[in-house]
Amino acid sequence: MHYMVHAFGSDHSYLDIDFNNPAQSELAARIVANCLWCDNHSVDENEVWSWSLKRRLQALLEITMVTQGGEMLLQVRCSNRLCDEDIELPLDLERFRQDVNVDEFSFSVDSTEVMARLPNGSDQQRWLQSPVFTSSDIARELVLRIGDRQPGDDWQFPEAWLPNFSESLERQDELMTLEISSSCPVCENELNCAVDLETQLLASLALEQQKLLLEVHQLALAYHWSEAAICRLTPARRKFYLAQIRDLVEGASLQ
Ligand SMILES: [Zn+2]
Repeated sequence: MHYMVHAFGSDHSYLDIDFNNPAQSELAARIVANCLWCDNHSVDENEVWSWSLKRRLQALLEITMVTQGGEMLLQVRCSNRLCDEDIELPLDLERFRQDVNVDEFSFSVDSTEVMARLPNGSDQQRWLQSPVFTSSDIARELVLRIGDRQPGDDWQFPEAWLPNFSESLERQDELMTLEISSSCPVCENELNCAVDLETQLLASLALEQQKLLLEVHQLALAYHWSEAAICRLTPARRKFYLAQIRDLVEGASLQ
């Protein structure tokens, strides 16, 4: 299958996406379904729910890179309490690109190989909606085979297996527990921050939507074009017309 990534905001329907939606799975699936095209039609949103979280993250990463370029600024606060400075750390998104063809992973317990699958969007939604899920319950849902047998319906995931399971899952999906190390440019304090990359990418796309809304507002006011027509303009042409409006406004204020 051949996928094509469209920039976020190249169609006016993207303006309808509600970034205040607290359900991250829903928001992520909607954006991926809007911006990812496969063989001339957009990807079905229901299909994205069945994708591993790793694959969904990679799709959002590609969409963000096509939309705003390969660098993203991460907002952090210096952990040195005497400094407490707000810092912007540049992140090179390219380095987070990963192969998403593998959806399964394995770990060993007492020389038996246990196969499991990566969690997907539907899993995430279900676990978040029901706080009674323990780590063992989650692991139980992901186990596919123990040795060459499928686990029975009443099989429980042994707690003693959790360390091996978690270690192997993290190795297969290392962006899940991403940590960025840097130093504060003000006090030179060493910074180690845990980064939820998907949340950061969504925040970055939310800013793009705000920017686009503002541009639509300015262009509609000046040229009386429709929202849809403005969104169809290439970013370069939009930039050109906005520059003309700015020149006119500045020229008027100088007179
Ligand atoms: Zn500092």
